[in-house]
Amino acid sequence: MAKTKKTETETGTGQPVRAGSLFAYAPAPESPAAAGEIATGYGHFIGGEFVDSSGSQALKTVNPATEQVLAEFAQGTEEDVDRAVRAARKAFADWSALPGSERAKYLFRIARIVQERSRELAVLESLDNGKPIRETRDVDLPLVAAHFFYYAGWADKLDFAGWGPNPRPLGVAAQVIPWNFPLLMLAWKIAPALATGNTVVLKPAETTPLTALRFAEICRQAGLPEGVVNIVTGDGRTGAALTAHPDVNKVAFTGSTPVGRAIAKQLAGTRTKLGLELGGKAANIVFDDAPLDQAVEGIVNGIFFNQGHVCCAGSRLLVQESVQDELLDALKRRMGTLRVGDPLDKNTDVGAINSAAQLARITELAAAGEQEGAERWAPECELPGAGYWFRPTLFTGVSQAHRIAREEIFGPVLSVLTFRTPAEAVEKANNTPYGLSAGIWTEKGSRILWMANRLRAGVVWANTFNKFDPTSPFGGYKESGYGREGGRHGLEAYLDV
Ligand code: NAD
Repeated sequence: MAKTKKTETETGTGQPVRAGSLFAYAPAPESPAAAGEIATGYGHFIGGEFVDSSGSQALKTVNPATEQVLAEFAQGTEEDVDRAVRAARKAFADWSALPGSERAKYLFRIARIVQERSRELAVLESLDNGKPIRETRDVDLPLVAAHFFYYAGWADKLDFAGWGPNPRPLGVAAQVIPWNFPLLMLAWKIAPALATGNTVVLKPAETTPLTALRFAEICRQAGLPEGVVNIVTGDGRTGAALTAHPDVNKVAFTGSTPVGRAIAKQLAGTRTKLGLELGGKAANIVFDDAPLDQAVEGIVNGIFFNQGHVCCAGSRLLVQESVQDELLDALKRRMGTLRVGDPLDKNTDVGAINSAAQLARITELAAAGEQEGAERWAPECELPGAGYWFRPTLFTGVSQAHRIAREEIFGPVLSVLTFRTPAEAVEKANNTPYGLSAGIWTEKGSRILWMANRLRAGVVWANTFNKFDPTSPFGGYKESGYGREGGRHGLEAYLDV
C-alpha cells in the first residue's frame, strides 16, 4: 500500500473529514479477458439456437466505464417475439409433463455451471453494467447460483407445498427485466418458472444484454430441452411486443413504475397473470439508541451498493434529531473512504453509472435538490475521464416536499430527513407512493416489531440492509408493484392456484 497525501473537507458540522484515506490501495485489476469471448454481434436465442432477427436493426451495448462498444445485438421485432413465444409454447407440453425430479436435474445442472463459470460471468457483468467486480463476484453471482439451487430443490416437492396434489404450471411466461442486476433478475425470473413447469421468453434490458445471452449458452451446456428458455433482445418496443403477445399466460415485469402501470392497463380484463416489481424510495430509519458505526455501514450499503441502482435502496435516511450531527459526521467520514472508479478493480466500492441517460437523470434530480434548497455534500474524489460517473452524494435539509425526497433517483444520492418520535418516523417513512422496503436501526427489539407492523413496505430490515436470500419473498406495496418473488411465494406466481 502506498502512502498518499491526505486532503480535508469541511463537513459543515465543524468536524474535518478526510477525502480519500491515509493509505491508498494499489490497483488490483481483474482481467477483462476473463469474460471470455464477446462476439461483435448477437442475434436471439430461440428454440435452443442462436438465430438472426427478422429485422435489420441492431443496437449497441457499451462499457459504461469506458464508453467503448462491447457488442451489437438485435432489436427484436414482433415477428421475432412471436417466433420465440411459439418455440416456448411448443416446448411447454413436454417440459410440463416431466416429473419434477427431472426438471430439478436441469436446474441443479444450471446452478453448478453458473458456479463453475462464475468468474467469467462476474467479469462480463461488470463490463456490461459498470458495477464493481467485488459485487458481481461476491453478491450477484453467488445469489444467481443460490436461486437456481433453491428452486431446483422445490421442483419435486410442489405436491407437498400446500396447494394440493399436482399444482399446474401456467404455460408460457413472458419476462422483462431491467439493467441493474441483469443476471440476478434473470435468475429470479427463470428459476421459479422452470421449477414449476413453465417455459419462458425473457427480454433483458437494452443496456445489459450480454449475460443473458451468455446464459443462453449455459442452457445449451446443461442440455436444457430446446424452447424451454428463449431470449429475445431489444428495447422497450420489443418488451411491449412480448408483454402484449396474445399467447402468453403470465407476464413478469421488473422495471419502472410508469412501464409497469402501462402493462397493467394492457392486461386488465385478460386471463394473463401479472407480477410487477417496480420502483422504490425506501426509508432507512436510525434511532438514537442504534449502534451508530454499524448504522453507518448499513446506510452506505443501503444507498451506495450498486451505485444506488437498487429498487429497494435506502435512499431516504430518517435520523432521530438528537443523533443527527454525530451520525452525519461519521457518515461523511465513511463516504470519504469510498473508492469510486474502475469496476474491474477489486478495491472499487462504487463503479460506473449504467448509461448516459441514467447519469443525466441523476444529475437532473440532484440539481433539483439544490434548487429546492437542500444542502449538497460529496467527498472529494477523482473521477475517470471517460465513462459515466457520479460521486456518492448526500443532501441535508431535505423536506418531504422536495423532489429528491419523493422521486426515485436510482443513483448514489442520499436524502437526509430527521424525526423526533417513532410515530413521526413511521409517518414520514410511509409518506411515499412506493412501498418496497425499509430499514430500522435500534437496539430495542420491541421497537423493531412496533415499527415493522406500521411500515407499509414489502421488506423490512432490522439492523441490516439490502440482505437478499432466495428463500425470502420480495415485493412491494402501492406503486412498488404486486406479487412476490423468492421463497414459496415465488412458486405461486407461476402456478395455476
Ligand atoms: P424500464 O421500465 O424503462 O425498463 C425495464 C425493462 O422494461 C427493460 O427491459 C425495457 O426494455 C423494458 N420496457 C421498456 N418499455 C417497455 C414497455 N412499454 N413494455 C414492456 N417492456 C418495456 O426501467 P429501467 O429504467 O430500465 O429500470 C429501472 C427501474 O426498475 C427502476 O424504477 C427500479 O426501481 C426498477 N427495478 C425494480 C426492481 C424490483 O424488484 N422491484 C428491481 C430492479 C429494478
